[in-house]
Amino acid sequence: MEEKKILVTCSSMPPFEEYTDEIKELWKTVWLTNSGAKHRELERKLCDYTGVRYVSLFVNGHQALENIIAAYKLKGEVITTPFTFVSTTHAIARNGLKPVFCDINRENYTIDVSKIEALITKDTSAIVPVHVYGNLCDDEKIEEIAAKHGLKVIYDAAHAFGVFRGGRSVLNWGDASMCSFHATKAFHSIEGGAAFMHSAEIKEALEAMKNFGMTSQETTDYIAGNAKMNEFQAAMGLCSLRHFKDEVSKRKKNAERYYANLSGIEGIKLSVPLSDVESNYAYMPVLFDGYSMTRDEIAGKLAEHNIYARKYFFPPTNEFSCYRDIASKQEGTPVAKHISENILTLPLYASLAADDVDRICGIITNR
Ligand SMILES: *Cc1c(COP(=O)(O)O)cnc(C)c1O
Repeated sequence: MEEKKILVTCSSMPPFEEYTDEIKELWKTVWLTNSGAKHRELERKLCDYTGVRYVSLFVNGHQALENIIAAYKLKGEVITTPFTFVSTTHAIARNGLKPVFCDINRENYTIDVSKIEALITKDTSAIVPVHVYGNLCDDEKIEEIAAKHGLKVIYDAAHAFGVFRGGRSVLNWGDASMCSFHATKAFHSIEGGAAFMHSAEIKEALEAMKNFGMTSQETTDYIAGNAKMNEFQAAMGLCSLRHFKDEVSKRKKNAERYYANLSGIEGIKLSVPLSDVESNYAYMPVLFDGYSMTRDEIAGKLAEHNIYARKYFFPPTNEFSCYRDIASKQEGTPVAKHISENILTLPLYASLAADDVDRICGIITNR
């Protein structure tokens, strides 16, 4: 008998009636997009949840990041890491800016802060670090470097919704942060995303920029596209938010089961949250470095059992053909390359059964 198919993630759905109740009003108001009631309610609730002053919702996370970068009117070069989803690098390049690839650290795979300053030139305008897997960047050091050189800091926090350090949402860090609410993320609105920021001016710019740059019916101040979140997405976001605490606690249970099964094994490295961090348990990245099987062998072996782990993030974005020219003129990023070739993201989601976690671990450890 074929074993049940397990993918790297599975979206959590609210109870069907909860969603239909949430969208019912839309048949009365017939206000389907353009900052409707659901949209406004979700923005308000996200401000409350994160403690960030301003939130601007977007149709997806990528558009949020691309528009944040545009709103800051950056010029020249932007320092970022290649160990991420290609969206991060595209958001920089599509703004006409040059991505400058900084290597990552071996501890938690975020930007190696000891390598940032050597990459700063007279053309550098910002740093776009990534809280990859919800692992946190060294914000203090990044802030210090940014302040010293007058750079903006815009976090790709696509993986960091619901991550708190010292009781404070990490979306408060830097000048702004982008979150993704894609169906594959821990918190989702089907497709969706948001910009989190402290600046009223940037918030105002983003509100216009996601709506063709229009500042009123008869004035257009920015050359911009259409990136608005609609009411059906916002309604799903409201449902997801109601269940988010439960979502995280279910993910945590599964993550802890992985830690129990896989920790202390030679050649296997896990990303375990630090003691002052409240994690969202968005991903289960496992580094196979000096283990009896390679990452690719393990991925293959799991696939034989109908289990599809993902090589997040492989290859690093500076190896994609569209960035090869830029990257070839820059110093390499050997750590990003090494991690990218040896890391595997295992299935982790709220409805994943504990038995399945044990089975996945058994396949990896040959038990
Ligand atoms: C998902 C993701 C994005 C893009 O978000 P979308 O909502 O899918 O547009 C950007 N960066 C990272 C690191 C991501 O994982």
